[in-house]
Amino acid sequence: MLEHLSGHTLLVSLIATPIRHSLSPKMHNAAYAKLGMDYAYLAFEVGPEQLADAVRGIRALGIRGSNVSMPNKQAILPFLDDLSPAAKLTGAVNTVVNKDGKGHLVGHITDGIGAIRALAEEGVTVKNRIVTLAGVGGAGTAIAVQLALDGVKELRLFNQKDDCFSNAKEMVKKINVDTNTKVSMQDLADEAVFKQSIRESHIYIDATGVGMKPLENMSLITDPELIRPDLVVFDLVYSPAETKLLAFARKHGAKKVINGLGMMLYQGAEAFKLITGREMPVDDIKQLLFKTETDN
Ligand code: NAD
Repeated sequence: MLEHLSGHTLLVSLIATPIRHSLSPKMHNAAYAKLGMDYAYLAFEVGPEQLADAVRGIRALGIRGSNVSMPNKQAILPFLDDLSPAAKLTGAVNTVVNKDGKGHLVGHITDGIGAIRALAEEGVTVKNRIVTLAGVGGAGTAIAVQLALDGVKELRLFNQKDDCFSNAKEMVKKINVDTNTKVSMQDLADEAVFKQSIRESHIYIDATGVGMKPLENMSLITDPELIRPDLVVFDLVYSPAETKLLAFARKHGAKKVINGLGMMLYQGAEAFKLITGREMPVDDIKQLLFKTETDN
């Protein structure tokens, strides 16, 4: 695997902490190998204290691009030269492009595009739909913004009354002003409103992480009456592959029950394209990714 590395090899980084568990290096390096590209992708443990130096390093070393994960997704904004429209609305970045290594850094967010491409792959379109989305943290916000940019008719956001609830208010205001989507934000504790919203929705998205350790025995939906064959149920969690919510939805007849693995794949594919200009060979990478997750 290392034979191809040379004096010409171009580097792409991932900066976050903790990061050693990430599937991204495996995905991107496998894609370079498959396409015979002279690139390498490495993860660097970078937190708030190292972030400014890390971005200087990207410029100084001509690193061609970087993925960015927690806790740097918002903190990196002041160090960048420009932002994509989605990154601007979301107020966060997961991909930085350093075109031709010249030091002009543009921030993008690909989580929302990844989620929508994962839905499309299952035959789910979002335009003119009503969507209920629980959990407006980092990933939920990125998806909300992309849904609005892609023409969702109505977006009903729910969150518990924590910092994410207050932080999302600005994004809700911007979406209502800048797009044609009607967005509302409600307290998740208001169960009757939450249930009524799901009844009226085509798609339910759970971006709370409930269903993942240590909350693997929990689901925000426990009433079978809410599950209809035509309700799309999308949980961002991919480990476990079937959360309590997805198992419940499947058991009660939902036909499209989707986990977060497709989103993981396609947010990476979009970042790959932005940084290298090439299409990721997703069929090959999908096999690798799905196998890795089944083995875990
Ligand atoms: P985050 O911490 O930024 O946001 C978490 C959100 O869930 C917040 O809105 C918070 O208020 C809410 N929440 C937390 N605990 C809750 C509970 N007990 N009940 C109700 N709401 C609760 O996290 P994030 O980065 O947005 O990630 C959210 C989930 O999405 C995680 O499970 C993460 O693994 C998953 N994710 C998946 C992908 C993918 O590619 N599939 C990408 C990013 C995140």
